Amino acid sequence: MPTREQWRERAANLEFRSLPYIGGEPVEPAGADTIQVIDPGTGQHVTEVAAGGEADVNRAVASAREAFRAGSWSRADPAERKQTLLRLAELVRRSAEELALLDSLNMGKLITDSYTGDIPHAADVFQWYAETTDKTYGEIAPSGDGDLALVTREPLGVVAAVIPWNFPFSLASWKVAPALAAGNSVVLKPAEQSPLSALRLAELAAEAGVPAGVLNVVPGYGETAGQALGRHPDVDCLAFTGSSEVGKLFLRYSSESNMKPVWLECGGKSPNVVFADSEDLDEAAERACFAVFWNQGQVCSSNSRLLVERSIHDDFVSRLLDRVRGIRLGDQLDPGTKMGPLVDETQLERVLGYIERGRGEATLAVGGERVAIDGGGCFVEPTVFTEVANSSVIAQDEIFGPVLAVIPFEDEAQAIEIANDTRYGLAASLWTSNVSRALRVSSRLRAGTVSVNSVHANGAPIPFGGFKESGFGRDLSLHSLEKYSAPKTTWIHYG
Ligand code: NAD
Repeated sequence: MPTREQWRERAANLEFRSLPYIGGEPVEPAGADTIQVIDPGTGQHVTEVAAGGEADVNRAVASAREAFRAGSWSRADPAERKQTLLRLAELVRRSAEELALLDSLNMGKLITDSYTGDIPHAADVFQWYAETTDKTYGEIAPSGDGDLALVTREPLGVVAAVIPWNFPFSLASWKVAPALAAGNSVVLKPAEQSPLSALRLAELAAEAGVPAGVLNVVPGYGETAGQALGRHPDVDCLAFTGSSEVGKLFLRYSSESNMKPVWLECGGKSPNVVFADSEDLDEAAERACFAVFWNQGQVCSSNSRLLVERSIHDDFVSRLLDRVRGIRLGDQLDPGTKMGPLVDETQLERVLGYIERGRGEATLAVGGERVAIDGGGCFVEPTVFTEVANSSVIAQDEIFGPVLAVIPFEDEAQAIEIANDTRYGLAASLWTSNVSRALRVSSRLRAGTVSVNSVHANGAPIPFGGFKESGFGRDLSLHSLEKYSAPKTTWIHYG
C-alpha cells in the first residue's frame, strides 16, 4: 500500500474527465451548468465537471436506443458479451489505483476501503455478470399436444441508472453490470457529488469493446438530469439507489410518464442486536463499531441502532466506547486513517443537526463535535448516544453519518419488536451463540439481509435490497437480472 505522501502525489497527477459520455465519446453539453468537485478532506477545489441537463439526457437516451436497435450488443452472441465484460473486469482491476483515488478524492472515502474494497468488488461484479451471459437458459412451458411454448428472456431496451455518492464506483457496477449482461443499453447518472469514476467507467467499457451508445454517462443534478431520466418516455426501466424520499419521486415520475418499471434501493436504519449469550463480546463490539462507522456512517445498511440486552448493557457499552475513542480521524488518503471526512458541507450540517437533536433526546456518551484536520475538512467525531428511546428522532431517521443510537432491551421478544419498529427494512445484524435463537430471530426480522455473528454480509452472488421504505427489487445475484429482462413467450402451433 502506498503511503499518504505517495497517494497525495498521485492524486495531484490524476487526469479528470469532465464531459458527458454519449454515443461512445465525450461530448460538449447543451448547457453551461457545472459541478464543482471539492476534496472534502481538505476543502480544496479538485476539478469542474459539466452538469448535463434535459437536452443531454435526451441525446443519451436516443443514442442508447439507436445502439439497442442496431443490435451489436442487444443481439450479440452471449459469448461475445461475456468476453467483453470480462475484459472490462480486468481493465477495472488494472485501473484500481486510479479509480480508488477518483472516488476517495471525490467523496472522502478511505483510500484503504476504495483500493482494497470498492474497486476490486466492482471488478468481481463485472466478472460475475459476464459469466451469467452464457449460462442463462430459457424455458419451455407446458402446453397441449401440437403446441410448443418457448419462454425466452429478452432485454428491456434502454435502462437508466441513477445512483448515490456513498459507493460511487461499486454501486455503478451493481446496476451497469447486470443491465449490460442482459443485453440492454444503459444511461448512467452518477450523483452530483461523485461524477468522476463513472465518467472513467464509460471509457474503460469502450476500451473493453462495449459498442458506442451502449453505455452512456450523464453527470448532472438530480432535479434536472435525474428527473429527465425518470420522466423520459423512451426509458424502459429505471434502477435507482438513493434516499427513500427521492425513490418516491421516481415512482411519481414513472406514473406521470410511461409507466416504466422502477427499482428502488433506498435508505435504512438497521438494527444490530447483541444478546447476552454472544460468544465473544469483544468481537461483537469491534464489529459494531465497523458496522456503523464504516465509510463515516454513510452506508445504506449502516447498523445505526445498537440494541443491547440489559444484563450486559453497561459492560458492552464500555467495550464499545473504548474502541470508539481509539478511532483516528484524518486524511482519507492516509492508509493509517480509520475515519475520513463526510462527503460535503451539506451532509456535515445535516449530521450536526441530528447530533444537536440527539443531545435533547438521549445521553451523549462520546463524540458529537466537528473537528478540523490540518485546519479544515468535513470531519465529525464518531458519536454514540446511549439510553436512546426507539421512538426518538435519532433512532428513527436515517442520519447517514457517524452517529450510533444505543437502545437497551429486556428479552428476545422486545428485541424483535424494537428492531422492526422502523419504516425501513434493509439490513440487520444479530449476535448470539444459540443457533435456535439465531434462526428464530432472523426469521422474524423484517430486513433484506440478516448478518448473524457478523455485519454487512455482502457479495456479488448475494441479493441485496430491502422491505418497506428501503425499497424493492434486489441488486446483485441472479435476481438482479430479472429486473433488466422480461420473459417473452413464443407460442408455436405445429398441429
Ligand atoms: P439522494 O436520494 O439524494 O440521491 C441519489 C440520486 O438521486 C443522485 O444521483 C441524485 O442526483 C438523484 N436525485 C436527487 N434528487 C432527485 C430528484 N428530485 N429527481 C431525480 N433524481 C434525484 O441520495 P444520496 O444523498 O446521494 O445518497 C444517500 C442515500 O442513498 C441514503 O438514503 C442511502 O441509504 C441510500 N443508499 C441506498 C443503498 C441501497 O442499496 N439500498 C445504497 C447506497 C445508498
